[in-house]
Amino acid sequence: MCVNVKRLRSDVESNAEFGAVPSVDGRGRTLLTGTDADRRAREFLCERLRDADLDVRVDAVGNVVGRWAPESADPGAAPVATGSHLDSVPDGGIFDGPLGVYAGLEAVRAMQDAGVEPGRPVEVVCFTEEEGQRFGGGLVGSAVAAGALAPEDALDIDDADGIPLGDALADIGFRGEGRLDASEWDAWVELHVEQSERLADADAVAGVVTSIVGLSRCAVEIVGEADHAGTTSMAERADALAAASEFVTAVERAAVDRREASETTVATVGKLDVAPNAPNVIPGRVSLTVDVRAVDHADIDAIIDDARSALEAVRAGRSVDATLEHTWDRPPVSMAERCRAALHDAAAAEGVPALDLHSGAGHDTMHVADVTDAALLFAPSRDGISHNPREWTEWADCAAATRVLAGALADLATE
Ligand SMILES: [Zn+2]
Repeated sequence: MCVNVKRLRSDVESNAEFGAVPSVDGRGRTLLTGTDADRRAREFLCERLRDADLDVRVDAVGNVVGRWAPESADPGAAPVATGSHLDSVPDGGIFDGPLGVYAGLEAVRAMQDAGVEPGRPVEVVCFTEEEGQRFGGGLVGSAVAAGALAPEDALDIDDADGIPLGDALADIGFRGEGRLDASEWDAWVELHVEQSERLADADAVAGVVTSIVGLSRCAVEIVGEADHAGTTSMAERADALAAASEFVTAVERAAVDRREASETTVATVGKLDVAPNAPNVIPGRVSLTVDVRAVDHADIDAIIDDARSALEAVRAGRSVDATLEHTWDRPPVSMAERCRAALHDAAAAEGVPALDLHSGAGHDTMHVADVTDAALLFAPSRDGISHNPREWTEWADCAAATRVLAGALADLATE
């Protein structure tokens, strides 16, 4: 499959101009949903899709779809789809998201150039608000496409200033109609940057994801007694933060102890609110979160059991009250065997070294995989850096991964 690296690079670099932020090291951009930078990025994408003879439509929540349906394709057949997102975190990099969108477009152009005659239409998709930096917690567009979130509810999500997503999209001319329905796709493949260093460590260029980790969140409250830091003796204290510290290290130990049995299991206490949070007051109350991820749900459950026991031990050993609430659970998602096989076959045909690995992040594919056969392909990230202007993927690696994507899409669309 003849991928044109210059064309792909030009698209990704042009897209990098929208929301570009000056950075000493690397190339940064801040592209938040519904901003002028978002409008320009979306307009440029629509133009590039049309340049390649794709029909462009925009759904109610701003998901953009370019459809390639050449004569060979049965217009009624379920399409094969690919894509990712164009929004970014503040001061993010230029590859996270845009590489998947423009590699999808380049894959279609490569198929056109190679005279591939697919039996199914091929769709290139840009999902709205993947990063969740302005509206909601992320993966908004793909949640709507997968039927996990109603379009009306998505459009009602307010930003910090009380502006709903629907108004922000209307303002930039990207509140369309209808709902992109991912369950109508025959298959989906997303190319994304790896955001870790496993490919580089294995001298591989294409990462074929086996499964996306499950994720659980717990909310923990530890209540002691706020008191004077000078006049309360050490024997009289009920220090909620000292108690929380024991709990935090116990959670870390629970995951570390499982490292041999399951290297994908990770546990993080990333947020603590300490009250009253004053230098001369013994902490009276701590609220904290526990984030647990693993490819096997049994490992997640085991960590949460350990966390409950650790909290009970802290409560019993110190004069504090403590509660743990399991607030959120998203099971692990397996990628479809036939889509993974298509990626491996394409990598072998293109001579691109491939590696099976799991994904520690959700990506839009997590939602799509709930409703159709899906796969996720990783391209290497230099030093594993992402969400940072120093995020980088070599252009040759972008091209190699796009060749694998194009081969897999051609296979899935013609089989
Ligand atoms: Zn991303």
